[in-house]
Amino acid sequence: MSKNKIKIFQLTKDKKVKLHYKGPFVAQKRLLFIEIDEYFELLDKEEQKVTIWHEIYHRDKASGLRFLWRILKFRSKKKAIWEEEFEADKYSAIMCGKKNVLKSLNTSKKLYEKGIVEYNPKTHPKIEERIKRIKELRL
Ligand SMILES: [Zn+2]
Repeated sequence: MSKNKIKIFQLTKDKKVKLHYKGPFVAQKRLLFIEIDEYFELLDKEEQKVTIWHEIYHRDKASGLRFLWRILKFRSKKKAIWEEEFEADKYSAIMCGKKNVLKSLNTSKKLYEKGIVEYNPKTHPKIEERIKRIKELRL
């Protein structure tokens, strides 16, 4: 897939989202659209939906002010970022089920382990902790 290509993704029966191919991350939110890269294609359809709902949470539900509030609450920018990741995973689980989120997180874990995707503790909590939180989640 070449760079800067746009893909229309059917997220639900009546919801389509615009995805922009860029790298070097699996997916990332931007103000108006969601950027993805070729690793996105390594995910199955359900895992892709999980990823998109996760990014939609970042885009729509975690505004600048909420982020500031989180920094004040946790007194740490890193903790605030991590907490937003846990919330985005939880939102995905509400939208497409715990089972699919766990499957997607386990795929991410494999991508980290194989060195295909590099783990960055500044932007994401440990994948094991994300998996644990989803397992404990009661929906
Ligand atoms: Zn995220």
